[in-house]
Amino acid sequence: MEPSPLYLNGEFVTTVQALPVRNPATGETLAQMSTCGRDQVAQALADAHAAFQSWRNVVGKTRADFLLKIASEVERRKDEFARTITLENGKPLPQSAGEVAMTIDHLRWFAEEARRGYGRIVPPQAEGKRHLVIKTPIGVVAAISPWNFPLVLAVRKVAAALAAGCTVVLKPASATPLCAVLFAECVHAARLPKGVFQLVAGSAGEIAAEFLENPLCRKITFTGSTEVGKNLIAGAAAQVKPLSLELGGHSPVLVFDDADLAKALEGTMIAKYRNTGQSCIAANRIYIQRGIAEQFIPAFVERVKALKAGNGLEPGVDIGPLINPAAVDLALQHIADAQAKSAKLLCGGKRHGDAGSAFLEPTVLTSVPGESCGMCDETFAPVAYVNVFDTEAEAIARANDSTYGLAAYAFTRDLSRAFRLMESLEAGMIGINDGVPTTSNAPFGGVKQSGWGRELGTEGLDAFLDTKHVSLVV
Ligand code: NAP
Repeated sequence: MEPSPLYLNGEFVTTVQALPVRNPATGETLAQMSTCGRDQVAQALADAHAAFQSWRNVVGKTRADFLLKIASEVERRKDEFARTITLENGKPLPQSAGEVAMTIDHLRWFAEEARRGYGRIVPPQAEGKRHLVIKTPIGVVAAISPWNFPLVLAVRKVAAALAAGCTVVLKPASATPLCAVLFAECVHAARLPKGVFQLVAGSAGEIAAEFLENPLCRKITFTGSTEVGKNLIAGAAAQVKPLSLELGGHSPVLVFDDADLAKALEGTMIAKYRNTGQSCIAANRIYIQRGIAEQFIPAFVERVKALKAGNGLEPGVDIGPLINPAAVDLALQHIADAQAKSAKLLCGGKRHGDAGSAFLEPTVLTSVPGESCGMCDETFAPVAYVNVFDTEAEAIARANDSTYGLAAYAFTRDLSRAFRLMESLEAGMIGINDGVPTTSNAPFGGVKQSGWGRELGTEGLDAFLDTKHVSLVV
């Protein structure tokens, strides 16, 4: 099997050293991915630096045209992209198609934003002076992306950086590099100048060390676990290298007595079980107000029992495999720990299929003590922890009782309460009666240990621009 290539300085490069890429639904090896060591990463940064000298001067309108061409290429090959995402990540095909659609929208959004790297003119405080605030691209950017949304989370970084006038070296997750190779093919087809976008793969530790220590790399943008994010923070200290960090989450869902039951059920199902529970903004703790709990909890369990687990390529599948069998083992440990601490299992709770399979039955637990592992650490799996609360103040306190602060969800028809919640919930994104808050044109990111900075929206472009004050005596 010929390994899938890296994309270095405008060329597709295949290497002998390669990593196997497995289909999590079957355990079979799908492909081999070429890898590179530190020397090639250093060369990629040098080539990105050389390319930056001209790319930074390409006007926003022209950068936009390149992004639009890439978007059209991705759209032309959208079925191939969706199938590749399902093969390497496992998610149901319609969800992969949704990921591709959002990727195209991100590319088009940042094509529009490429024209808008606005500065401003500030009125002087001293006679004869003028103050200009200008924005310039930060330089060579290194992007590190995770496996759970392998295409859209990589492109969210790449599109914004290219729009800002930066050049990018992307390192995708080792479990899911194949859609990044397809993306490189789209970049190549759009005739982006060589070195402006490059794709590397291999040992995360080695590649990240080069990104951190090489002074040509001016910013690292990372999406992944809080643990790796903390390592990057430590490693970035030596050069005070700027970081954007999209890290783990532990999102609460609050369902109030006055909620529209159907909307609350629908929104909670999506927030919990989309992407087989492997989403950074997935609902991890679900709190139901006592007056609606008797209706909500049995209806929720019925819906969860009706979810169909299986190979994401098969029609009608709602729940795919987890990324690997070890992820199922970890989720089973969280379930056992909650049960040992007196939580009640309402459905699921077991591996689905053979002993070594990567499938987990969609699970619901209730009366889950706060000290259970899954109430503190992310259970990156289709496992719902459902508890009951009495007052709004209690709900807010329990929602905020986490080191994470990525997303929070609330279902209520009381507008005053909605405002109190949006102001007091400690999260970067809040869905009120909405289980899917992400959109290209609004900022995405977390507070507390969920990260630094924002992607998407106008903030997404700003993350790759330096702000300079020019004081001019006239
Ligand atoms: P991960 O283990 O942190 O991996 C993410 C990326 O970091 C991969 O490309 C990985 O490469 C790389 N990596 C691993 N070790 C590294 C190191 N020492 N230095 C630099 N990079 C390193 O996370 P994951 O398990 O793939 O993803 C799940 C986590 O990501 C969850 O915590 C989830 O909440 C979080 N996440 C956050 C967001 C957000 O927007 N806030 C979005 C999605 C996911 P290899 O694959 O080669 O190991």
